[in-house]
Amino acid sequence: MFDSFKKKFTGDNDEPAGTTTKPDISREKSAELFAKAKTYFPGGVNSPVRAFKSVHGTPLFIEKGDGSHIWDADGNEFIDYCGSWGPLILGHNNGKVREKVISVMQNGMSFGAPTALENELAELILKNNKYIQKLRFVSSGTEAVMSAIRLARGYTKRDKILKFEGCYHGHTDSLLVKAGSGLVTFGETSSAGVPKSFADETIVIPLNDEQALEQAFANFKDQIAAVIIEPIPANNGLLLQEKEFLKFLRIICAQNGTLLIFDEVISGFRVGFEGAAGHYQIKPDIITYGKIIGGGLPVGCYGASAEIMGHISPDGGVYQAGTLSGNPVAMAAGIAQLTELLRMGFYRELNNKTQEFTEAIQRFATARNYKFKVFTIGSIFWFAFTDKEAIRSADDIDPASMDKFKKLHRELLNRGIYFGPSGYEVGFISAAHTKIDLEKTKRAIFDSLELVFSNK
Ligand SMILES: *Cc1c(COP(=O)(O)O)cnc(C)c1O
Repeated sequence: MFDSFKKKFTGDNDEPAGTTTKPDISREKSAELFAKAKTYFPGGVNSPVRAFKSVHGTPLFIEKGDGSHIWDADGNEFIDYCGSWGPLILGHNNGKVREKVISVMQNGMSFGAPTALENELAELILKNNKYIQKLRFVSSGTEAVMSAIRLARGYTKRDKILKFEGCYHGHTDSLLVKAGSGLVTFGETSSAGVPKSFADETIVIPLNDEQALEQAFANFKDQIAAVIIEPIPANNGLLLQEKEFLKFLRIICAQNGTLLIFDEVISGFRVGFEGAAGHYQIKPDIITYGKIIGGGLPVGCYGASAEIMGHISPDGGVYQAGTLSGNPVAMAAGIAQLTELLRMGFYRELNNKTQEFTEAIQRFATARNYKFKVFTIGSIFWFAFTDKEAIRSADDIDPASMDKFKKLHRELLNRGIYFGPSGYEVGFISAAHTKIDLEKTKRAIFDSLELVFSNK
């Protein structure tokens, strides 16, 4: 009776007993909350990956966060490497962000009229980013991408867009499309509810493949409005691209009158204040931001040259609006967070810290001949159970290797380390992670890897 009840709400993701050397953390309260949540929300969650479908056990319900640490409903404490999926580059509950938000909130939450705070955040960004001249604030990454696509179509008066397999751009219809059969084809919808006619406007090709790009531009001459790419693809593992490929992409877009969109919702303000554009010194035509830009509150943004942005209403004919766009409380969080990022040496310190951490883990794994690679850039890292030197396209990931991640995830939770609940997700280091945190984490990772690679 109890067993079947447990099965019912943990799904089929239980490991057999005896594969862990530590007792599993107590999840009674989280499990209770999850059972309740399932009566309210599909799958018990408001965003699918949170449901812990691909790792052991029920999702943890988080009660609070402070710095690099989070606490769940059962009182378990973790060092967190998910960081709310990227926004929290300063860590949880940062004092400067919190104080600024509280002070702005004293004056009301939303007006639907312009406020000086929008100017302030825009100025912070534009003064320190040579790749865009004007921008528009929206309320999520998805919304930023959706608007950027419409802008590109309105600007070029073309309909088709090209995306890469292994890049995630939020859940806008025309981008919920995956590669069909054949190298250069229209995509197939990757979600029910997306009309086939939408997918017919989206071409999907593999990353890191110049030939496929050339073929696509030949097949659809003068029809492609935009190519959209995560210049640092970090939503399906970390599929680092060679700079040469991104340069080639820049050139072929320009030759074809196609706009290049860098979706920097995850890489923006993460690998440096100017994101991937600054890192690779490549100027796309439109950039989208999200995550870090809002300091943990819902903010997205898209930006381009003044000329391209002139096509957005009310200046131009491309319509885009939002009741809560530029919300003062959200702007306040963004202002406080980005101000910290502009501190001298901020990124150097954060990136060095990440490099030391990932190198130590790689050394450990290499010394033991584990099929295990740590890929990293800036303060993003990804563990891949592989012996490949590089993983640059979605096809290079072995789905069977995810079993090992599942084990690792459980071992790490039992040792007080919280990673996003899927082996396809990257980890983030924040400014709040201390030397002690990172030492503890390394030790936990070493112990866990030993278990994962032992012959059990
Ligand atoms: C997270 C993400 C999105 C979607 O942003 P939401 O705020 O979740 O809508 C889009 N593109 C990239 C590259 C992302 O990482």
